[in-house]
Amino acid sequence: MFIPKRVIFEEKALEYKLGEKLLKDFKEKLNVEIMYSKNGRITGIPGRDDIQKYLEGKNTLVVGVRKTLKFESCKPSAHYQLPIVSGCMGMCEYCYLNTQMGKKPYIKIHVNTDEILNKAAQYIDERKPEITIFEGAATSDPIPVEPYSNALKECIEYFGKRDKAYFRFVTKYTDIDSLLPLNHNGKTTIRFSLNTDSVIKKFEHRTPNFNERLMAAKRVADSGYPIGLIIAPVFIYEDWQHEYYSILQDIHNSLSGYNIKFEVISHRFTKRAKENILNVFPKTMLPMDEEIRKFKFGQFGYGKYIYKDEDMTGLKEFFLNNISDLFGKESINYII
Ligand code: SF4
Repeated sequence: MFIPKRVIFEEKALEYKLGEKLLKDFKEKLNVEIMYSKNGRITGIPGRDDIQKYLEGKNTLVVGVRKTLKFESCKPSAHYQLPIVSGCMGMCEYCYLNTQMGKKPYIKIHVNTDEILNKAAQYIDERKPEITIFEGAATSDPIPVEPYSNALKECIEYFGKRDKAYFRFVTKYTDIDSLLPLNHNGKTTIRFSLNTDSVIKKFEHRTPNFNERLMAAKRVADSGYPIGLIIAPVFIYEDWQHEYYSILQDIHNSLSGYNIKFEVISHRFTKRAKENILNVFPKTMLPMDEEIRKFKFGQFGYGKYIYKDEDMTGLKEFFLNNISDLFGKESINYII
């Protein structure tokens, strides 16, 4: 669970019951600074340099109202992003949010989940009879702030009752027990992002270790949720095959018999991401040497550095063969 150092309330949020309740709760907590934003602009997060700004942002919770109810598309994995949370308490060095959230990457929850879900209903109706899939973690990891927002609970129960619509989100966090008894009706897929412990220790700061994530995935699977596992980002390093094989075996020992879907994503980076990462993590050990990568134009117009063909082929074969052997080929969604 995320314990912020400061909470900033948008004034508009205090017109909602949840906003009011959170203000009362946080006022009773010592060591939490409370600030207000009149116009929705978030100012007042301290920080002299980029590193401090990053750290202070990562320790700030904003309680706000989602004003724009136009959903962004979320291709190819879903149709729309469901904007319930933005930002994340995690400090993964490679995180895609590092290029999206500005210099002070605060975590924002919205108190108007009802209005967001009413809008989702419109999108669902517009697409009928086609199915519509909503992604709840496109710009966040929503689990650490769930005790404050209850947004996942509301969404899971909402989609559990709706036709022609599915919900999904991905997390690295393990405080999922409040979601286990919900009436999900098989309409929400919870995906866990996994990696080897050496990658987690080096690059995924403030996140649970592999075994904790695996145990959380098991509890979710035991509660009948469809689950997915994302092994990402995969790094090629000394002993990578041995370590990734070991986590596949652990997954097999804990989750064989469940219908798991795997997504495997090799490490990649853009020039812009590299610059931002070096600003905040100047001593990063992330492998970001352009010379030993292949440059590839992405679908959104900017280029990224992926592993070279021979490395990529080895990596793909490794996961294809081992996942197929342990779980069956049909359990692989994609390996990229
Ligand atoms: Fe980013 Fe996910 Fe790490 Fe959060 S847990 S910092 S969203 S990669």
